[in-house]
Amino acid sequence: MKYDLIIIGGGLSGLAAGIRSAHFGNRVCILEQQGRVGGLNSYYHYQGRIFDIGLHAITNYVPRHIKSTPLAKTLRQLRLSYDDFQLLPQQISRITFPTKELRFTNDFNFFIQEISEKFPHQIDQFTKFVQSLKGYDEFSAKKEFVSTRQILQSFFFDPLLIEMLLCPLMFYGCSWENDIDFAQFSVLFRSIFCEGFARPQDGMSKIIQLLKTKYQHCGGELKTNCKVQKLHIHQNKVSEVHLSNGQTMKAEKIISCIGLPETKDLCTSWGGKTTNRTTTPRTGALSFMESIIILNTMPSQLTFDTTILFYNDSERFFYQRPKTLIDTSSGVICCPNNYQTEKPLPEGMIRLTNLANFTLWNGLDEEEYHIQKKFCLRESLKKVERFIPGLQDRILIHDIFTPKTIEKFTGRRQGAVYGTPDKTKDGLTPIKNLFICGTDQGYLGIVGAMLSGISMANAHILY
Ligand SMILES: Cc1cc2nc3c(=O)[nH]c(=O)nc-3n(C[C@H](O)[C@H](O)[C@H](O)COP(=O)(O)OP(=O)(O)OC[C@H]3O[C@@H](n4cnc5c(N)ncnc54)[C@H](O)[C@@H]3O)c2cc1C
Repeated sequence: MKYDLIIIGGGLSGLAAGIRSAHFGNRVCILEQQGRVGGLNSYYHYQGRIFDIGLHAITNYVPRHIKSTPLAKTLRQLRLSYDDFQLLPQQISRITFPTKELRFTNDFNFFIQEISEKFPHQIDQFTKFVQSLKGYDEFSAKKEFVSTRQILQSFFFDPLLIEMLLCPLMFYGCSWENDIDFAQFSVLFRSIFCEGFARPQDGMSKIIQLLKTKYQHCGGELKTNCKVQKLHIHQNKVSEVHLSNGQTMKAEKIISCIGLPETKDLCTSWGGKTTNRTTTPRTGALSFMESIIILNTMPSQLTFDTTILFYNDSERFFYQRPKTLIDTSSGVICCPNNYQTEKPLPEGMIRLTNLANFTLWNGLDEEEYHIQKKFCLRESLKKVERFIPGLQDRILIHDIFTPKTIEKFTGRRQGAVYGTPDKTKDGLTPIKNLFICGTDQGYLGIVGAMLSGISMANAHILY
């Protein structure tokens, strides 16, 4: 049988593209290499608990009555209701540098007030900058990289403010080292500072189930434990999809959410006359160590009320692949307990994120790998102790992902969570009937990935 559409990967973007395409009567099949869909934002069972792989926060949070935003658009296009996600807004988040701290909530006016108190000499420029973002359309923006640092320097003369604005936005979505494409920055600025953070009441498992059920109700087929091994290219089109179990499949069109370099690797040729970056996409350099810690107490008992804390130990923020296994000079501390809820989580939980070096982790033998995981967690915890005193004595269980884990389970080369710096914003590849959605199309995060799947289905399947 020939499908209208095969989707490679059941990440959030692939699921959203599948729902949208199947809803309008297309014969769609999603092929997912793992036993469960959700990709980087799925969940797993560990020591009698359900752990979310990637969830710190759903960005783009807005209250239900605000309509023309990415969250509202995503829900509308997937025919989901606001209540389906059961979103709990954050309490408060912090960006902490040695000499200053900026707090933010889901009320953007609170953040403006913070800037006016902590950077009174920059508040007029900040207002102008925010105004300029309102007229900026990221997706009609030029495809070439535009340096955010240069743009910020043209608005602000205090370098510390620039670093403090960059820190959370880079941690939550930047695939470039030490700078970020301005189109990407403006998406992140809106989704994190102007809109905000929330957590689904029961974590990602319900959302994943909801998307999967919706897709199947629309008539979509899903094959899990089904890895795509090769895309056979004939006359610059994908003619056959070869699976690792030896089967082959055919479709009019293919959408891939596994990443641009990863998709290129599957193709028997990668022709095309264009010579832009999408023809030779680089592997992303940035990956993380993520530690999930269950406590035998509640974080509030340790006087920690912050939802997400971004820290940096110096006045300059270095967002780059570290020269050591991990870089603890900056990091993210996320506390899933510190969302506004009437139904508190049964246990205290802290998630820690540090920049990490794939090559160094990958070079360790198995024994050393396990030793280093423990050592790096200890190093990471030392830095956290000043924000959550007593944390180290309260750990019940923990689990750690390294860049190697991320590569192993998601297929993202070198564990590059945010993909290649060479995005294909229109989703096109040099292969005529092959399109990219998700991280390497340029929208990322939970809402971003779903929006990407929707936009690419609308643009290339449903037009
Ligand atoms: C530790 C961590 C924390 C994060 N925290 C947050 C957060 O708090 N908030 C937020 O919004 N975002 C967060 N993210 C980012 C977010 O998870 C991603 O941006 C988003 O889920 C990407 O979705 P995607 O559909 O583009 O790709 P992916 O999720 O990578 O999906 C790709 C899918 O393709 C499958 N696949 C790969 N190769 C093949 C193949 N050959 N054949 C078949 N299937 C294949 C993979 O198994 C995977 O399921 C986090 C990510 C990580 C890793």
